[in-house]
Amino acid sequence: MSKNTLVFIEHRDGAITPASLRMVTAAKSVTDAEVHAVVIGHGVTPIAEQAAVIGVDNVHVLDDESLQQYSVLPYTRAMDAAIEASAAAVVVLAASGLTRDFAPRLAARHNGLMATDCTSVERIGESIHVRRTMYAAKCEGELELPPGQLRILSIRGNAFPLPTCTGKAPISSVDAILSEGDKRVQVIEFIAGDEGEQNLADADVIVSGGRSLESESNFSILYDLAHRLGGAVAATRAAVDAGYQPQSHQVGLTGNVVAPQLYVACGIDGAIQHLAGMRGSKVVVAINTKAEAPIFNVATYGCVADLFEMVPLINEACQSLDGKPVLQ
Ligand SMILES: Cc1cc2nc3c(=O)[nH]c(=O)nc-3n(C[C@H](O)[C@H](O)[C@H](O)COP(=O)(O)OP(=O)(O)OC[C@H]3O[C@@H](n4cnc5c(N)ncnc54)[C@H](O)[C@@H]3O)c2cc1C
Repeated sequence: MSKNTLVFIEHRDGAITPASLRMVTAAKSVTDAEVHAVVIGHGVTPIAEQAAVIGVDNVHVLDDESLQQYSVLPYTRAMDAAIEASAAAVVVLAASGLTRDFAPRLAARHNGLMATDCTSVERIGESIHVRRTMYAAKCEGELELPPGQLRILSIRGNAFPLPTCTGKAPISSVDAILSEGDKRVQVIEFIAGDEGEQNLADADVIVSGGRSLESESNFSILYDLAHRLGGAVAATRAAVDAGYQPQSHQVGLTGNVVAPQLYVACGIDGAIQHLAGMRGSKVVVAINTKAEAPIFNVATYGCVADLFEMVPLINEACQSLDGKPVLQ
């Protein structure tokens, strides 16, 4: 009988994404059965070896040339095979562009239950209760996923701490039999963005700016602070539309959904569509010249000030942190 929990291990540039690592902790909180991991790709033995020491009971590897580049149909087929091999009743994935693509297809195929973008998950009896923001973050909903069908949870990257690594799990190889139909979508090229910059979904610290930055070059003060704090830079849609930052940096309803430990909002008004993307942040610091700006309603610390004066001051004050993590 299916009873285990399967964690999808997303990897990039030869390393497991931090958000996927955190999913092992999430998986352990919803089961007292085994937690398995699945690694999909080509030439992924080193990733499987990394996955074997993150506190899971078993690692399933699907290694095939046709899985080299992500594509929705082969990955869904590979996940089908991994679910069977791991006897999984629950699948846990970090919310990302990739999982957003294949997970609903997987849920539909298994006639399963799915909750996306969860900010917390908890096991109550045999049910899993999740919380997630709804209606563009205007409210938060609690959903109950009872047992009986496959349950798929996509969880915000930073909602759980990193797992404690114990022992070494066995690694087993699984075959995914792909049909011709599964191969009908071909990935021609993978274009990486923002070389050297941290992925927003994985960032513990995000320094974000709005239209008030007034130019692309002015964003350099946010980059200086972000680099000092070991974080990433994000922007509002207004700043993106004005061409100050690439679309991949946009946070909000039509951009990235992030949940860092620290979100520094610089000259951001706090429109509902922006809040939809960053409300899950643990600590929000808002800097705005307008005391009544809505961003202050979600801020942990508010600072009514000009960002062009305040951001360099914070940067200077953080100088002593150089090389040390800002978050303990
Ligand atoms: C369908 C739809 C989807 C959308 N999706 C998104 C989305 O994904 N993400 C998103 O962000 N928006 C989104 N928007 C747009 C959203 O409604 C807002 O227009 C946008 O977030 C405003 O961006 P802003 O705060 O940078 O700009 P503004 O609204 O212009 O606010 C600028 C703020 O900066 C402050 N300020 C000005 N100068 C300074 C200074 N020197 N120092 C400090 N503070 C200063 C001002 O007081 C003001 O509060 C969407 C809108 C729609 C209709």
